[in-house]
This record gives sequence, structure tokens and C-alpha cells, in this order.
Amino acid sequence: MDAIGIERGCEGPRLLEIPRPEPDPGEALIRTLRAGVDGTDQEVIAGTHGSFPAGADYLVLGHEAVGVVEEPNGTRFDRGAVVAPTVRRPPADGGNEYFERGEADMAPPVKTLERGIDGAHGFMSEYFTSPEEFLVSVPECLAESGFLLEPISISEKALDLAEAARSSFSWEPESAFVLGNGPLGLVTVAMLTPEMRVYCLGRRNRPDPTIDILEELGATYIDSRETPVEEVPAVYEPMDLVYEATGYARHAFESIDALAPNGVAALLGVPEPWTFEIDGGRLHKEFVMHNKALVGSVNSGPDHFRAAIDRLESLPESFLEAFVTDIVSYREFEPAFEQGANVLKTVVEFDSYEER
Ligand code: NAP
Ligand code: BGC
Ligand code: ZN
Repeated sequence: MDAIGIERGCEGPRLLEIPRPEPDPGEALIRTLRAGVDGTDQEVIAGTHGSFPAGADYLVLGHEAVGVVEEPNGTRFDRGAVVAPTVRRPPADGGNEYFERGEADMAPPVKTLERGIDGAHGFMSEYFTSPEEFLVSVPECLAESGFLLEPISISEKALDLAEAARSSFSWEPESAFVLGNGPLGLVTVAMLTPEMRVYCLGRRNRPDPTIDILEELGATYIDSRETPVEEVPAVYEPMDLVYEATGYARHAFESIDALAPNGVAALLGVPEPWTFEIDGGRLHKEFVMHNKALVGSVNSGPDHFRAAIDRLESLPESFLEAFVTDIVSYREFEPAFEQGANVLKTVVEFDSYEER
């Protein structure tokens, strides 16, 4: 079967011919419908994040997928059911306490593989197999857009962790500041705008499609070249919630100053090592004296995917139309990995959905 992946010693993604997988007991065989591309895929392609599966010379890409059960193989699914796979799988030496508790998303990197990213083949292939506990049922009406459940689930988890960090007192956030207008930042703006005053940080000139999208959602664009993150409270307002999705490491610390008293910042970016100066003493005191919190958040689990189903159903159709900028066939996949100001969320299509 055909797959899209990277090969050791070669540059960029390519079409690979690999054997169609056979489901083991407890696994279903899934026919892939669509798989999305995000900043992490670009990091994997560039070689700055993730790894090849042990002993393999290639890695099948893709961690944001939706598909249809081709062979239930004794699992709870019917043939033809629409499903989305979660990303994490146990390491080669077997499961561990995180997987036993059904909390793979809380495992440290050494205790997990990530399909399409770190040590395990992803979902950009005509078929893939998965143990049933890592498959989430998706309503048929989301068969085409279900590749968005994974990125939305990432934000469901991060917002959950942020809220949990403020759960011991009455916290009613009214302002949110999303750092980054990439695919993760934009989808999070769409998730938050119905509930709060939302601001979104970028570093682009108008006209720009991401600025159009976030303004259409009712959010305010902030250009980091004009208003540095730490100056945002004075120019706009202090933020109850900050959601960092730039991967720009300075923002983690600048977020502390952007927060209102008792606020919380969720950090999502995955930066490269970078040494820079901060006034640690001042920031430490700022944290303490204003009861501020910073939480890191990575990955997501089945409950976050289920929350993402309701969220995806509630997002405006006009947002989804503007957000998904390209849907390409796997046979001509290259444009899905191109980058540029007009490329937001791209999708590789393996098959189209036919109702049962
Ligand atoms: P992306 O496409 O790289 O988007 C990052 C966005 O941030 C870009 O639009 C970029 O602007 C903007 N940006 C970067 N530095 C900035 C600055 N100094 N000021 C203003 N804007 C800035 O990536 P993504 O897919 O949206 O993901 C965002 C980050 O989250 C990445 O680091 C990714 O690895 C990470 N991530 C983490 C998780 C998790 O589970 N923790 C999940 C998904 C993604 P330009 O486009 O103009 O350069
Ligand atoms: C994926 C997550 C993954 C993270 C770190 C993100 O792009 O969506 O599932 O845990 O990257 O590799
Ligand atoms: Zn991702």
C-alpha cells in the first residue's frame, strides 16, 4: 500500500510503498480517510523533533487522522464505523503505569512512543492498525473534518490543566491571550471566542489570512513586533488565561507579565534549546505575589478527543472553510507540506467517505 513518510538520509516527505498491516488480536484495521499536517510534522521532517521507529529506515508521517473501520477483528467497532486514533502507544519494552491508568498523555517521553512523530509509524497510509483502546468513535457527520479532533483535543487538555490549576478558588476568566497564529493557535482562538475576550499574537503584516480569520471570529490581533508580550496588559488588558502556541521560548517567561493576578498560562510550544537572560528574581516574585500559574501540556487522551467532538461540532462553518486551506490527494501530497502565509491547515486525503 502507499504511505507518506520520511526516509533516513533523504530530504522531505515522499511516497513510500509499504506492506499493508495485519491487525493483531485486539486491534482493528482502519482505512484512512484524511490526515492533517501541523507544525510538529514540519519539526519531524526537519529532524528537530521525534525519531524513526527502532530498526526502521523510514517513518510514516501523520498523527491527526480520521478513518473508517475496515476489519473490526473482534473489537467493539462495526465495519464502516468512523474513528479517530489517539497518538501515543506503549514503548517497545511494553506498557507502563501511565498506559495501565489510561493516562498515556501524562507519560514522560521516555515512557511512550508517538505515532507519526516519535518512534512509531503514523497514519498517513492507506490503512493502519490500532488497538481498540486507542480509537475513539466519531459521528458520521464528522467523517470529513474528524482529522481536526486531534489538534482540538490538544487544546481541550491544555485548557483542562489550566482550569484545574485555578480550581481551588472562584476563577471566572474573561480575557484570553493566544500566542501564535499557526494552526494550533487559530483553532484555539475559535474554541475560546464564544466564551471570552480573545487576543491573538502574531508577527505578520496585513493583509494576512490568519488575521482575517481571527478578526472574523471576534478576536483582536496583536503584532509582537509592535507590542511585546509583557506590554500587552498596559496596551490592552491583563489576561486571565494565556495559551502559548508559538514555540518561541521567551514567550513562556513573558507570559508571566501578561497575566492578570491569579491568571494561568498554558505552554504548548516545543522549542529548541536557547539560552537567554531573564530577571528570574522579579518573575519568581511576580508568580508568588499574584498567585500566578504556568502549566505545560502535551498530547491528549480519549476523553479529550470526546470533548473535541462536541467542540468541533460547535465551531462556525465559516471558520472551518477558511481554516482548511488545502485538501490534496495522497498521490500528489507535496502541497500539503508547503509552508507560507496562505497555508493554514492542510490535509492529505486517502479516501472519501461513503455512508453505510
Ligand atoms: P506553527 O505552524 O509553527 O505555528 C507557530 C505560529 O507562531 C506561527 O504562525 C508563527 O508565525 C507564530 N510565531 C512564532 N514566533 C512568534 C513570535 N515571536 N511572535 C508572534 N508570533 C510568533 O505550529 P503549530 O502547529 O500552530 O503549533 C504551535 C507550537 O505548538 C509548535 O511549537 C508545535 O510544536 C507545538 N505543538 C505542541 C503540541 C502539544 O501537545 N504540546 C501540540 C501541537 C503543536 P509565522 O507563521 O508568521 O512565522
Ligand atoms: C501532537 C501531540 C504530541 C506533541 C509532541 C503534537 O503536535 O499533536 O500529539 O504529543 O506534538 O510530540
Ligand atoms: Zn500535532
